[in-house]
Amino acid sequence: MAKQDDTFKKVISHAKEYGYIFGSSEIYDGLSAVYDYGQNGAELKKNIREYWWKSMVQMHENIVGLDASIFMHPTTWKASGHVDAFNDPLIDNKDSKKRYRADVLVEDFREKINQKIEKDVAKAKKRFGDAFDEQEFRSTNGNVVRRQKQMDEITTELTRVQEENDLPGFKKLIEDLDIGCPESGSKNWTDVRQFNLMFGTKLGASADSAMDLYLRPETAQGIFVNFLNVQKTGRMKLPFGIAQTGKAFRNEIVARQFIFRMREFEQMEMQFFVRPGEEMKYYEYWKETRLKWHMSLGLGEENYRFHDHDKLAHYANAAADIEFNFPFGFKELEGIHSRTDFDLKAHEEFSGKKLQYFDHELNENYVPYVVETSVGLDRMFLAVFSKSLKEETLEDGSSRVVLKLPAVLAPTKAAILPLVKKDGLPELALEIIGDLKWNFNVTYDEKDAVGRRYRRQDANGTPFCITVDHQSLEDKTVTIRDRDTMQQERVAISELGSILGEKTSYKTWLSKLK
Ligand code: ATP
Repeated sequence: MAKQDDTFKKVISHAKEYGYIFGSSEIYDGLSAVYDYGQNGAELKKNIREYWWKSMVQMHENIVGLDASIFMHPTTWKASGHVDAFNDPLIDNKDSKKRYRADVLVEDFREKINQKIEKDVAKAKKRFGDAFDEQEFRSTNGNVVRRQKQMDEITTELTRVQEENDLPGFKKLIEDLDIGCPESGSKNWTDVRQFNLMFGTKLGASADSAMDLYLRPETAQGIFVNFLNVQKTGRMKLPFGIAQTGKAFRNEIVARQFIFRMREFEQMEMQFFVRPGEEMKYYEYWKETRLKWHMSLGLGEENYRFHDHDKLAHYANAAADIEFNFPFGFKELEGIHSRTDFDLKAHEEFSGKKLQYFDHELNENYVPYVVETSVGLDRMFLAVFSKSLKEETLEDGSSRVVLKLPAVLAPTKAAILPLVKKDGLPELALEIIGDLKWNFNVTYDEKDAVGRRYRRQDANGTPFCITVDHQSLEDKTVTIRDRDTMQQERVAISELGSILGEKTSYKTWLSKLK
């Protein structure tokens, strides 16, 4: 745990030091769980958003985009169930005065047991080598079997108390498991209460005529209420999808894990409308497609896993998370939900307007079913950033800090460095920039020895350094250094555009999805 904490701290301080993420309104001591993206962070975030948008909208002929407002008619949230059911169970520790989500306390406890199992499995794997039969080990090893049984029992009871909204039962579960406050260890708990996560606000100037509104807690409803607008004006045929990125707001009870859980965050969601009865086929399709998208970034396949939901939300008939191995363990990165016709039907009922599709093949009208993919842009940022940050020991014994961001996402694609600040080298470097900047975000750096500049760009996440030296003046060649391998190659200046294009383009990276 100490090692994990340490890694996480390094991620947070590196993000600040290199202009990726700052605390919000820091000069006033900040605002809890609210963050600002700096000069590099804004670029990285934009590139992640673009990587998602292109893979969804540009690469799928039957998916189109939407940009709906944050404010929506308040009845939207009655219909969607958020007014009545968008609650989290919260519990306070009477001694430490810390507030927690009751379900998260139990899930974290269960995850600790899981980590013990995985440790035993890993140890055994090392001991037995090729002869190791993991399945056999998991089903026969005494410790593993006992711990697995305990995990299953916890899952069953957690699902029950959540489904039955049994708040005293929730508290009893926490007490039975002897869970202490993660900060103080105290087991002096209050009762469990429900807490609605939506932020309320008012629209209009005068207090009596103002209308009570909510800041949207998810972008999905903007898609549902526009379903027919898009379907009709775009002449869309089922199955088709509507994709959207945008801000969402949740008054999270516990928001302590940097940008993992924020009160203001950005979602990238896609609702895929299908014929009723075909939803499971597309649910499986999108589970697989989304996992592939994540893996295309090359952060390590072992860092992803599916978690099928035991407790389904009020709108879903199947749901799974893609979990990622964050610095604090495996946690949800993206949700894939089969939402049935719940939302469209509810909006029909509350608005009195039909939200149906006429299926020419079947010659009938119906409310489509929906499969949703929903990923947090900030969580995605944290996943990419935290896995890319490495400390390496080099052959000569020295060490370097390097941010191995996937080149397609890196804020700056190349730094152009004149070897010295004279002899016409800066002029040639600036000429190269003048040419490349039309297609790539590039930067100029002439300060300090070139070795230090390389280190600076490594830590900044810049995948390529292009060095202009005296030979460049003679034969119009430069060296291009790869951040990850540190190999240098001499290439013609005229080739730079196509080299960078090949290594950093969306096409190169997204074509791995095929
Ligand atoms: P969690 O269980 O972690 O609270 P959730 O199941 O409520 O998440 P969804 O409603 O499925 O999340 O939202 C879809 C995605 O939006 C999540 O997978 C996550 O990436 C992102 N997300 C949700 N809440 C937050 C938040 N408070 N801060 C940042 N990202 C979030």
